[in-house]
Amino acid sequence: MLGLMQDYPLLTHTILDHAALNHGEREQVTRSIEGPIRRTTLADIRTRALKVAKALEHEGVRLGDRIATMAWNTDRHVETWFGIMGTGAICHTLNPRLFADQIAYIVNHAEDDIMFVDLTFIPIVEALQDRIATVRKYIVLTDSDHMPATSLPNAVAYEDWIGAVDDDFEWKSFDENTAAALCYTSGTTGNPKGVLYSHRSNVLHGLMGNQPDVFGLTSEDVILAIVPMFHANAWALTYAAPMAGAKFVMPGAGMDGKSIYELLESEKVSHTAAVPTVWLGLLQYLEENDKGLPYLKKIVVGGAACPPMMIRKFELDYGVEMIHAWGMTEMSPIGTTGKLKHATMSLDREAQLKLKEKQGRSPYLVEMKIVDDEGNDLPRDGETFGHLMVRGPAVAKAYFKLDQEILTKDGWFDTSDIATIDPMGYMQITDRDKDVIKSGGEWISSIEIENEAMGCPGVAEAAVIGLPHPKWGERPLLIIIRDAGSDIDKDGVMAYLDGKIAKWWMPDEVVFVDEIPHTATGKIQKMELRKQFKDFKLGD
Ligand code: ADP
Repeated sequence: MLGLMQDYPLLTHTILDHAALNHGEREQVTRSIEGPIRRTTLADIRTRALKVAKALEHEGVRLGDRIATMAWNTDRHVETWFGIMGTGAICHTLNPRLFADQIAYIVNHAEDDIMFVDLTFIPIVEALQDRIATVRKYIVLTDSDHMPATSLPNAVAYEDWIGAVDDDFEWKSFDENTAAALCYTSGTTGNPKGVLYSHRSNVLHGLMGNQPDVFGLTSEDVILAIVPMFHANAWALTYAAPMAGAKFVMPGAGMDGKSIYELLESEKVSHTAAVPTVWLGLLQYLEENDKGLPYLKKIVVGGAACPPMMIRKFELDYGVEMIHAWGMTEMSPIGTTGKLKHATMSLDREAQLKLKEKQGRSPYLVEMKIVDDEGNDLPRDGETFGHLMVRGPAVAKAYFKLDQEILTKDGWFDTSDIATIDPMGYMQITDRDKDVIKSGGEWISSIEIENEAMGCPGVAEAAVIGLPHPKWGERPLLIIIRDAGSDIDKDGVMAYLDGKIAKWWMPDEVVFVDEIPHTATGKIQKMELRKQFKDFKLGD
């Protein structure tokens, strides 16, 4: 027997309708690409999103067409997102930090029809335009006063383009499983793969993101979304913030410590989210300028392992709750958050800080388990590590236009991460399966060595890779960038690590470099490092 409740499709534009009706006055703030801070409201964003939808319809855009955006987090970018999805077209976010060849591959693979582009990225797109011929029109996210001369075909300033229509548009209606958004994984191995979110998965993921142990936003909160909208949906924030009626603060192109600090202060930001490298920049700025963080309550940090010293600094020196999160593009992306729970309240502060180093627990709508190489379930004992598997309504079941089975027979997705899960449900990433160091038949976690090394005075950044070893198969090489002015050497680092990690985990060599390569989403490029050090010989 079926229930007798209404058939109400979960469509992304219903979020904006709700927000405008119930929180229409709520301010939304952008550091504009042109320079000044721009203030708008949820009601205005909806009105302008309706204009985007109407203008797209005039351009002949239809259900299922791919419309690309290459843009920072701004009010105009939010309007285009909801406008595109509200016509039934698919909003394809492009990551401008990818290599030109990857961007060209992605645009062609997606067959993008129209592209919205920020002023900053015009040179990138101009250099590619002959290779991305499916794009027939470019809408530059600016006004006529700031519109540059450009060779892009049919380029028009956004404000002129939406200025030509009114907001008399009715959102399209369709099945909630209709595709809404497309985001390609960074593609550290092989070509990037397209993750195709549906309206339903986006709405559910937005609700999931607002569970109290995740972002838990309310109408009183002010969230600074530093994590870019092109980085897996800004970790749900583009949906979660308007759902809650929160004040959404968008940093535009200003990702440096000073610009971030200014917004945290001027907008009295209560919540924020970004990858660890952004927080390194902010910490440096705070320390150099002797500043505090009086308004900030919560930082969500993820996308790469958060160094323990960062958790301690923000928690102990600045009084801000640090929440370590893990996820991936294929999961929309939230997988876990490491908020303390009731059972951990009786732990002493040190034990709590240690627990916060773990990537955390899964919220409702993410299921998670670890398995061995044969796919057998492994215990949640906090010790055993295995392949981390997930499933849920906002987890991918296939890649866009790729005829390849990606789930196990019983519907689990292999994250390619190796992890432990403890009896209280806290998961800890040991490594990516490609990065774990296999030494004498046992596994060494490169992340754990990096985490410890990052705490060593004089170390600015640390990366660990496995190199071939004649006796052990693989052994760890520790690669370090020194702090400016520091002369820390191998002996100093080894002495610091001694006793902090198992003896047989101690790196065989320590090398000092000026730069460690990062991916477009802020992760250390281990593959690149392995190439760079392929001729480096470890002795026995
Ligand atoms: P994103 O777009 O969020 O960077 P990707 O799909 O590119 O997602 O990468 C996801 C991978 O990033 C995860 O499978 C994991 O290896 C790594 N990752 C994400 N968050 C963390 C974290 N907090 N600690 C360690 N690794 C992480």
